[in-house]
Amino acid sequence: MAVSSLKTNMSEVSGPRTLIGWHGVRFTLPPDWNLMTYSLDPSEGYLKVDSPDNNMFVQVKWSRPTVKPARSLAGMTMNFIRKYATKPVVDTSEPDLKQILDNFLKSAEKKTKKTKTSFDCKVKPRSEEANGVRVGHPFSWSGGGYGQGKIWHCKECGKVVIAQVVGQNRDEVGKVAAALLSDFHDHSEGGWDVWAFYDLVASIPSDYRLANQRLHFGQLRLEFDKPGGDKIILDRWGLADVLKKRVPIEEWFYNTYDLKRSKVQSELMQVQGHSAYRVKRKIRNPLDLLRIYKDAGLSMRPAYYYDACCWECEETNKIYAIQVWHNRTVQGLLESVAERCECH
Ligand SMILES: [Zn+2]
Ligand SMILES: [Zn+2]
Repeated sequence: MAVSSLKTNMSEVSGPRTLIGWHGVRFTLPPDWNLMTYSLDPSEGYLKVDSPDNNMFVQVKWSRPTVKPARSLAGMTMNFIRKYATKPVVDTSEPDLKQILDNFLKSAEKKTKKTKTSFDCKVKPRSEEANGVRVGHPFSWSGGGYGQGKIWHCKECGKVVIAQVVGQNRDEVGKVAAALLSDFHDHSEGGWDVWAFYDLVASIPSDYRLANQRLHFGQLRLEFDKPGGDKIILDRWGLADVLKKRVPIEEWFYNTYDLKRSKVQSELMQVQGHSAYRVKRKIRNPLDLLRIYKDAGLSMRPAYYYDACCWECEETNKIYAIQVWHNRTVQGLLESVAERCECH
Protein backbone atom coordinates (compact mmCIF):
# COMPACT_ATOMS: atom_id res chain seq x y z
CA MET A 1 0.00 0.00 0.00
CA ALA A 2 1.44 3.37 -0.97
CA VAL A 3 0.63 6.11 1.49
CA SER A 4 -1.57 8.84 0.02
CA SER A 5 0.26 12.06 -0.65
CA LEU A 6 -2.82 14.17 0.06
CA LYS A 7 -1.96 17.22 2.14
CA THR A 8 -3.96 18.33 5.13
CA ASN A 9 -5.51 21.74 4.57
CA MET A 10 -3.46 23.51 7.23
CA SER A 11 -3.01 26.54 5.00
CA GLU A 12 -6.70 27.39 5.49
CA VAL A 13 -5.95 28.11 9.16
CA SER A 14 -3.88 31.28 9.03
CA GLY A 15 -2.85 33.97 11.50
CA PRO A 16 -2.35 33.57 15.25
CA ARG A 17 -4.55 30.79 16.57
CA THR A 18 -4.51 27.71 18.73
CA LEU A 19 -5.03 24.62 16.67
CA ILE A 20 -6.28 21.56 18.55
CA GLY A 21 -6.33 18.16 16.85
CA TRP A 22 -6.94 14.84 18.55
CA HIS A 23 -8.20 11.50 17.17
CA GLY A 24 -9.61 13.08 13.99
CA VAL A 25 -11.33 15.95 15.83
CA ARG A 26 -9.91 19.36 14.90
CA PHE A 27 -10.84 22.95 15.81
CA THR A 28 -9.30 26.38 16.18
CA LEU A 29 -9.38 28.81 19.11
CA PRO A 30 -7.89 32.26 19.80
CA PRO A 31 -4.12 32.31 20.50
CA ASP A 32 -2.53 30.71 23.57
CA TRP A 33 -5.34 28.41 24.72
CA ASN A 34 -4.04 25.26 26.45
CA LEU A 35 -5.10 21.65 26.23
CA MET A 36 -5.71 20.56 29.84
CA THR A 37 -7.56 17.23 29.67
CA TYR A 38 -7.70 14.57 26.95
CA SER A 39 -8.93 11.02 26.61
CA LEU A 40 -7.13 8.14 24.93
CA ASP A 41 -10.21 6.25 23.72
CA PRO A 42 -10.94 7.31 20.11
CA SER A 43 -14.64 6.39 20.28
CA GLU A 44 -15.48 7.99 23.68
CA GLY A 45 -13.50 11.20 23.50
CA TYR A 46 -13.18 14.18 25.79
CA LEU A 47 -11.07 17.34 25.56
CA LYS A 48 -10.88 20.39 27.81
CA VAL A 49 -9.00 23.47 26.66
CA ASP A 50 -8.49 26.52 28.92
CA SER A 51 -8.16 30.18 27.95
CA PRO A 52 -4.78 31.85 28.75
CA ASP A 53 -6.30 33.71 31.77
CA ASN A 54 -8.28 30.60 32.91
CA ASN A 55 -11.56 32.58 32.77
CA MET A 56 -13.05 30.44 29.99
CA PHE A 57 -12.81 26.87 28.84
CA VAL A 58 -13.91 24.73 25.92
CA GLN A 59 -15.27 21.23 26.42
CA VAL A 60 -15.64 18.77 23.57
CA LYS A 61 -17.19 15.34 24.06
CA TRP A 62 -17.79 12.79 21.37
CA SER A 63 -19.04 9.23 21.17
CA ARG A 64 -20.15 6.70 18.66
CA PRO A 65 -23.54 5.05 19.18
CA THR A 66 -23.16 1.79 21.12
CA VAL A 67 -23.39 -1.55 19.36
CA LYS A 68 -26.63 -3.25 20.38
CA PRO A 69 -26.63 -7.02 21.12
CA ALA A 70 -27.38 -8.83 17.87
CA ARG A 71 -30.49 -11.02 17.69
CA SER A 72 -30.26 -12.03 14.03
CA LEU A 73 -27.56 -13.79 12.03
CA ALA A 74 -27.06 -10.59 9.97
CA GLY A 75 -26.68 -8.59 13.18
CA MET A 76 -24.17 -11.05 14.61
CA THR A 77 -22.18 -10.89 11.36
CA MET A 78 -22.22 -7.07 11.56
CA ASN A 79 -20.97 -7.11 15.16
CA PHE A 80 -18.22 -9.56 14.16
CA ILE A 81 -17.16 -7.22 11.35
CA ARG A 82 -17.18 -4.24 13.76
CA LYS A 83 -14.96 -6.11 16.20
CA TYR A 84 -12.34 -7.16 13.68
CA ALA A 85 -12.51 -4.42 11.08
CA THR A 86 -9.41 -2.22 10.80
CA LYS A 87 -11.63 0.73 9.99
CA PRO A 88 -14.70 1.23 12.19
CA VAL A 89 -18.01 0.30 10.59
CA VAL A 90 -20.11 3.46 10.72
CA ASP A 91 -23.66 3.43 12.07
CA THR A 92 -25.26 6.40 10.30
CA SER A 93 -28.71 6.20 11.94
CA GLU A 94 -29.51 9.41 13.82
CA PRO A 95 -29.63 8.99 17.61
CA ASP A 96 -32.00 10.95 19.89
CA LEU A 97 -29.92 14.14 20.16
CA LYS A 98 -32.51 15.94 22.33
CA GLN A 99 -32.30 13.18 24.93
CA ILE A 100 -28.48 13.21 24.98
CA LEU A 101 -28.47 17.02 25.27
CA ASP A 102 -31.09 16.96 28.07
CA ASN A 103 -28.85 14.65 30.10
CA PHE A 104 -25.85 16.89 29.42
CA LEU A 105 -27.71 20.06 30.46
CA LYS A 106 -29.10 18.35 33.58
CA SER A 107 -25.57 17.68 34.77
CA ALA A 108 -24.69 21.37 34.06
CA GLU A 109 -27.77 22.36 36.13
CA LYS A 110 -26.70 20.13 39.01
CA LYS A 111 -23.34 21.93 39.17
CA THR A 112 -25.20 25.28 39.19
CA LYS A 113 -27.34 24.22 42.17
CA LYS A 114 -24.20 24.08 44.27
CA THR A 115 -23.70 27.81 43.56
CA LYS A 116 -27.37 28.54 44.49
CA THR A 117 -28.07 30.49 41.28
CA SER A 118 -30.99 29.87 38.93
CA PHE A 119 -30.35 27.82 35.79
CA ASP A 120 -31.86 28.76 32.46
CA CYS A 121 -31.24 27.00 29.14
CA LYS A 122 -32.31 27.48 25.53
CA VAL A 123 -32.17 24.78 22.86
CA LYS A 124 -32.71 25.83 19.24
CA PRO A 125 -34.65 23.61 16.80
CA ARG A 126 -32.92 20.87 14.86
CA SER A 127 -30.97 22.22 11.89
CA GLU A 128 -28.92 20.68 9.09
CA GLU A 129 -25.50 21.85 7.94
CA ALA A 130 -22.58 20.76 5.75
CA ASN A 131 -24.99 19.70 2.98
CA GLY A 132 -27.01 17.56 5.38
CA VAL A 133 -23.98 15.61 6.66
CA ARG A 134 -24.54 17.10 10.14
CA VAL A 135 -27.78 17.60 12.01
CA GLY A 136 -27.82 19.29 15.38
CA HIS A 137 -29.14 21.75 17.94
CA PRO A 138 -27.34 24.94 19.06
CA PHE A 139 -27.84 25.58 22.78
CA SER A 140 -26.98 28.09 25.47
CA TRP A 141 -27.40 28.26 29.23
CA SER A 142 -26.84 30.64 32.11
CA GLY A 143 -26.50 30.06 35.83
CA GLY A 144 -23.27 30.60 37.75
CA GLY A 145 -21.74 31.56 34.37
CA TYR A 146 -22.61 31.16 30.70
CA GLY A 147 -22.36 28.28 28.31
CA GLN A 148 -22.85 28.23 24.55
CA GLY A 149 -22.38 25.38 22.13
CA LYS A 150 -23.90 22.78 19.90
CA ILE A 151 -24.73 19.09 19.80
CA TRP A 152 -24.66 17.34 16.44
CA HIS A 153 -24.58 13.98 14.73
CA CYS A 154 -22.28 13.44 11.75
CA LYS A 155 -23.69 11.01 9.22
CA GLU A 156 -20.29 10.42 7.68
CA CYS A 157 -18.42 9.14 10.76
CA GLY A 158 -21.38 8.36 13.04
CA LYS A 159 -20.08 10.53 15.88
CA VAL A 160 -22.29 12.51 18.25
CA VAL A 161 -20.36 15.62 19.31
CA ILE A 162 -21.11 18.15 22.06
CA ALA A 163 -18.90 21.23 21.94
CA GLN A 164 -19.37 24.17 24.29
CA VAL A 165 -17.60 27.25 25.64
CA VAL A 166 -18.08 28.16 29.30
CA GLY A 167 -17.14 31.43 31.00
CA GLN A 168 -18.31 34.38 33.09
CA ASN A 169 -18.76 36.94 30.30
CA ARG A 170 -21.66 36.21 27.92
CA ASP A 171 -20.21 38.22 24.98
CA GLU A 172 -16.77 36.64 25.24
CA VAL A 173 -18.31 33.16 25.45
CA GLY A 174 -20.37 33.94 22.33
CA LYS A 175 -17.31 35.11 20.37
CA VAL A 176 -15.23 32.04 21.20
CA ALA A 177 -18.19 29.71 20.51
CA ALA A 178 -18.56 31.28 17.05
CA ALA A 179 -14.84 30.68 16.33
CA LEU A 180 -15.00 27.14 17.69
CA LEU A 181 -18.09 26.05 15.78
CA SER A 182 -17.30 27.77 12.48
CA ASP A 183 -14.21 25.63 11.87
CA PHE A 184 -14.86 22.31 13.58
CA HIS A 185 -13.86 19.06 11.85
CA ASP A 186 -15.15 15.91 13.55
CA HIS A 187 -13.50 13.24 11.37
CA SER A 188 -10.24 12.75 9.53
CA GLU A 189 -9.84 14.06 6.02
CA GLY A 190 -7.90 12.62 3.07
CA GLY A 191 -6.89 9.61 5.19
CA TRP A 192 -4.95 11.71 7.74
CA ASP A 193 -5.65 12.70 11.37
CA VAL A 194 -4.24 16.03 12.54
CA TRP A 195 -2.63 15.89 16.00
CA ALA A 196 -2.22 19.43 17.31
CA PHE A 197 -1.62 20.79 20.83
CA TYR A 198 1.18 22.60 22.72
CA ASP A 199 2.28 24.16 19.38
CA LEU A 200 2.73 20.73 17.81
CA VAL A 201 1.04 20.29 14.41
CA ALA A 202 1.47 16.83 12.93
CA SER A 203 -0.58 14.39 10.88
CA ILE A 204 -0.70 10.61 11.06
CA PRO A 205 -2.53 8.24 8.66
CA SER A 206 -5.99 7.70 10.13
CA ASP A 207 -5.75 3.90 10.20
CA TYR A 208 -3.16 4.21 13.01
CA ARG A 209 -4.40 4.44 16.61
CA LEU A 210 -2.77 6.29 19.48
CA ALA A 211 -1.18 3.53 21.58
CA ASN A 212 0.79 5.62 24.04
CA GLN A 213 1.71 9.20 24.82
CA ARG A 214 4.01 11.22 27.04
CA LEU A 215 3.23 14.91 27.23
CA HIS A 216 6.04 16.30 29.37
CA PHE A 217 7.47 19.79 29.26
CA GLY A 218 10.80 18.65 27.82
CA GLN A 219 9.50 15.85 25.59
CA LEU A 220 6.31 15.11 23.75
CA ARG A 221 5.92 11.55 22.50
CA LEU A 222 3.05 10.18 20.47
CA GLU A 223 3.13 6.48 19.69
CA PHE A 224 0.76 5.03 17.10
CA ASP A 225 0.20 1.51 15.86
CA LYS A 226 -2.13 -0.54 13.75
CA PRO A 227 -3.02 -4.23 13.47
CA GLY A 228 -0.12 -6.13 11.91
CA GLY A 229 2.51 -4.33 14.01
CA ASP A 230 3.24 -1.24 11.89
CA LYS A 231 4.18 1.62 14.19
CA ILE A 232 4.96 5.35 14.17
CA ILE A 233 6.63 7.23 17.04
CA LEU A 234 6.85 11.00 16.90
CA ASP A 235 9.03 12.81 19.46
CA ARG A 236 9.55 16.49 20.03
CA TRP A 237 12.31 17.57 22.39
CA GLY A 238 12.71 21.06 23.85
CA LEU A 239 15.84 23.15 24.53
CA ALA A 240 17.75 22.10 21.42
CA ASP A 241 20.38 24.82 22.06
CA VAL A 242 21.29 23.42 25.49
CA LEU A 243 21.34 19.88 24.18
CA LYS A 244 23.60 20.52 21.20
CA LYS A 245 26.18 22.29 23.38
CA ARG A 246 26.81 18.91 24.97
CA VAL A 247 26.78 16.73 21.86
CA PRO A 248 26.19 17.27 18.11
CA ILE A 249 22.56 16.59 17.10
CA GLU A 250 23.55 13.73 14.78
CA GLU A 251 25.42 11.94 17.53
CA TRP A 252 22.62 12.63 20.01
CA PHE A 253 20.15 11.05 17.55
CA TYR A 254 22.23 7.86 17.23
CA ASN A 255 22.73 7.61 20.99
CA THR A 256 19.15 8.40 22.04
CA TYR A 257 17.55 5.99 19.61
CA ASP A 258 20.22 3.31 19.97
CA LEU A 259 21.25 3.38 16.31
CA LYS A 260 24.70 1.95 15.71
CA ARG A 261 26.18 3.86 12.79
CA SER A 262 27.97 0.87 11.30
CA LYS A 263 24.82 -1.25 10.95
CA VAL A 264 22.50 1.29 9.42
CA GLN A 265 22.18 3.01 6.09
CA SER A 266 22.42 6.72 6.85
CA GLU A 267 21.66 9.70 4.63
CA LEU A 268 20.45 13.28 4.73
CA MET A 269 16.95 14.39 3.82
CA GLN A 270 15.16 17.75 3.71
CA VAL A 271 12.26 18.31 6.14
CA GLN A 272 10.42 21.65 6.33
CA GLY A 273 13.54 23.42 5.01
CA HIS A 274 15.83 21.72 7.57
CA SER A 275 18.54 19.13 6.95
CA ALA A 276 17.49 15.93 8.70
CA TYR A 277 19.57 12.85 9.56
CA ARG A 278 17.94 9.67 8.39
CA VAL A 279 18.60 5.98 8.99
CA LYS A 280 17.00 2.93 7.40
CA ARG A 281 17.43 -0.71 8.10
CA LYS A 282 15.86 -4.11 7.84
CA ILE A 283 15.49 -5.53 11.32
CA ARG A 284 17.61 -8.65 11.89
CA ASN A 285 18.28 -8.64 15.64
CA PRO A 286 16.68 -11.87 17.03
CA LEU A 287 15.10 -10.12 20.04
CA ASP A 288 13.58 -7.40 17.85
CA LEU A 289 12.36 -10.04 15.41
CA LEU A 290 10.57 -11.91 18.20
CA ARG A 291 8.68 -8.76 19.12
CA ILE A 292 7.87 -8.06 15.47
CA TYR A 293 6.44 -11.58 14.97
CA LYS A 294 4.40 -11.20 18.16
CA ASP A 295 3.02 -7.80 17.06
CA ALA A 296 2.29 -9.11 13.54
CA GLY A 297 -0.25 -11.60 14.96
CA LEU A 298 -2.05 -13.17 12.03
CA SER A 299 -0.63 -10.71 9.51
CA MET A 300 1.54 -12.19 6.77
CA ARG A 301 3.41 -8.88 6.49
CA PRO A 302 5.50 -8.27 9.62
CA ALA A 303 6.90 -4.75 10.11
CA TYR A 304 10.55 -5.65 9.36
CA TYR A 305 11.54 -2.26 8.03
CA TYR A 306 12.74 0.58 10.25
CA ASP A 307 13.04 4.13 8.97
CA ALA A 308 13.79 7.18 11.16
CA CYS A 309 14.78 10.81 10.86
CA CYS A 310 15.73 13.63 13.20
CA TRP A 311 16.12 17.37 12.71
CA GLU A 312 16.62 20.55 14.65
CA CYS A 313 14.14 23.39 14.14
CA GLU A 314 16.25 26.46 14.99
CA GLU A 315 13.21 28.76 14.73
CA THR A 316 11.47 27.05 17.65
CA ASN A 317 14.52 25.61 19.47
CA LYS A 318 13.12 22.07 19.23
CA ILE A 319 14.35 18.72 17.99
CA TYR A 320 11.98 16.40 16.14
CA ALA A 321 12.44 12.67 15.65
CA ILE A 322 10.14 10.37 13.71
CA GLN A 323 10.51 6.60 13.72
CA VAL A 324 8.44 4.18 11.65
CA TRP A 325 8.34 0.39 11.56
CA HIS A 326 6.59 -0.81 8.44
CA ASN A 327 5.91 -3.86 6.32
CA ARG A 328 7.27 -4.45 2.81
CA THR A 329 4.24 -2.99 1.02
CA VAL A 330 4.54 0.51 2.55
CA GLN A 331 6.39 3.16 0.55
CA GLY A 332 7.29 6.70 1.59
CA LEU A 333 5.61 6.69 5.01
CA LEU A 334 8.46 8.50 6.82
CA GLU A 335 8.60 11.26 4.18
CA SER A 336 4.80 11.71 4.26
CA VAL A 337 4.69 12.03 8.06
CA ALA A 338 7.74 14.35 8.10
CA GLU A 339 6.36 16.70 5.45
CA ARG A 340 3.16 17.11 7.51
CA CYS A 341 5.04 17.82 10.75
CA GLU A 342 4.82 21.63 10.76
CA CYS A 343 7.68 22.51 13.08
CA HIS A 344 7.73 26.30 12.53
ZN1 LIG B 1 -17.87 13.14 11.08
ZN1 LIG C 1 11.18 24.03 11.63
